[in-house]
Amino acid sequence: MTPILRWALIGASDIAATRMIPAMRALGHQVTGVASGSAERAAGFAAAHGIPYGTVDVTALVARDDVDAVYVSSTNDRHRAHAEAALAAGKQVLCEKPLATSLDDARALIGAADRAGVLLAVNHHLPGAVTHRRIRDLVRSGAVGRPLAVRVFHAVSLPERLRGWRLEDRPGAGVIMDITCHDASVVNPLLDRPAVDAVALPARQGPWKAGSEDAAVTAIRYRDDVLVQTHDAFTVPFAPTGLEVHGDEGSILAADVMTQDPIGEIVLRDRTGVHPVEVGERRDLYEIVLEAFAMGRPTATGHDGLAALAVADAVLRSTQTGRREAVRGFPEELDA
Ligand code: NDP
Repeated sequence: MTPILRWALIGASDIAATRMIPAMRALGHQVTGVASGSAERAAGFAAAHGIPYGTVDVTALVARDDVDAVYVSSTNDRHRAHAEAALAAGKQVLCEKPLATSLDDARALIGAADRAGVLLAVNHHLPGAVTHRRIRDLVRSGAVGRPLAVRVFHAVSLPERLRGWRLEDRPGAGVIMDITCHDASVVNPLLDRPAVDAVALPARQGPWKAGSEDAAVTAIRYRDDVLVQTHDAFTVPFAPTGLEVHGDEGSILAADVMTQDPIGEIVLRDRTGVHPVEVGERRDLYEIVLEAFAMGRPTATGHDGLAALAVADAVLRSTQTGRREAVRGFPEELDA
């Protein structure tokens, strides 16, 4: 039996409204209250989503006896403070990605969760998807032989309603913190080895006045000279997303798998031909995250969130220095 959790939401956010509250309720979980930086938005969000309690007082919300777990979906620059408040109250935390806007902040959260003895997980929704599990299984079973390269196609259009803080000049804004870190959440467990270094080119292409990069192309090298390329953007309305894994004995081509919905098709090409891959039952990606969290076996742990951030951090530094940057701060257990 999956435990039924009573949630506090920190962040009157779009993702909470559109994905997480529906997923929580579909699993039978309850939403106890929501905290926002604005009393008016807290009250409006609570009323709009049938949540009994809306407040600006994060500490009071997370301390409530009828809160088992806290979901943090505030802007990226507030993740650390909000997750820390919840952990200080001894509550398990599902934090949105990126786990924080700096490696030090992410490490501080992992330390706080360890000290509190509670679960810290990150809402990277892709690694738990049945498509990505299938791709990892194929790679681990040797279907492509020795992995040589991964290509990630994650250039999408930022919906109009979200064209706010992501496009500003502030910590946690920009496509790299938004999308490249999702790519890393997929590639890290897929390659199962540390990222070594990265080089990247940022761009500002959108029909808006962007304070941060709204598109980026990256090259990331993982241990054993495995090369990864990503194309991430807020500016491309019609391209399909995708993931390809190329090895010396085969290639996996996965179309439409870098999305928020449980869609996408996988094909394996090898010396015997082109083989469609059966992926099995498709479930809502956010329900998968929540169910795994409730079971205490998250699809992305705090360490996974740190590893994804470590890659995004090196990519971001490269866009700032114009040079190849070492990936720093990969969690130690992955370095082993
Ligand atoms: P939103 O912009 O909808 O919400 C983020 C914060 O912005 C809210 O917490 C709210 O602050 C503030 N806000 C929202 N609407 C308004 C408004 N009209 N006026 C002023 N402030 C407003 O962001 P998202 O839902 O897109 O993203 C939230 C988090 O979720 C981010 O960390 C993002 O990276 C992550 N995310 C994850 C996804 C995934 O698939 N895992 C997908 C999308 C986002 P307050 O709470 O103080 O009211």
